[in-house]
Amino acid sequence: MSNLTSLQAALNARGTGPAGEAAGALGRRGCPLSDLRDRLRRAGLRPTRQRLSLGWLLFGRGDRHLTAEMLYDEAMRAKVPVSLATVYNTLHQFTEAGLLRQLALDGSKAYFDTNPSEHHHFFLEEEGQVLDMPDCGITVDSLPEAPEGMEIAGVEVIVRLRRRVAARRA
Ligand SMILES: [Zn+2]
Repeated sequence: MSNLTSLQAALNARGTGPAGEAAGALGRRGCPLSDLRDRLRRAGLRPTRQRLSLGWLLFGRGDRHLTAEMLYDEAMRAKVPVSLATVYNTLHQFTEAGLLRQLALDGSKAYFDTNPSEHHHFFLEEEGQVLDMPDCGITVDSLPEAPEGMEIAGVEVIVRLRRRVAARRA
């Protein structure tokens, strides 16, 4: 919650004189909000208020995996005025800009990973929960030849999990 309060303070302070402290924080090196603004710009996205608000929610809590609905719920709880359609659009823009990675886990829902580097996942299907696999989790050392004229761009492994029956009953 304090993260969000400081986001709103920083956004509101933008360009206003009296709130000098918060406005000063925006220009300070290492300020998470100006880092986010730089990150959006470097990715070729104009740092609009909506992108900053959603980016703040997305990237402010370490590596994680969310659907548009999950981010929309967080935005509602944080009183960020966005529609579900805007959340979808923003997630796709962030993905195209390389800030997020879309995971092909489940045909019905798109999951987005805030860590866009290549890594593998566990997927607990029944609960829709996605977990990063530890680095040592898997080795892929035998890949087929790519078809003529193509090369392998990446390998992502999804290991599907279910709870053991005893655990499910408990
Ligand atoms: Zn991940």
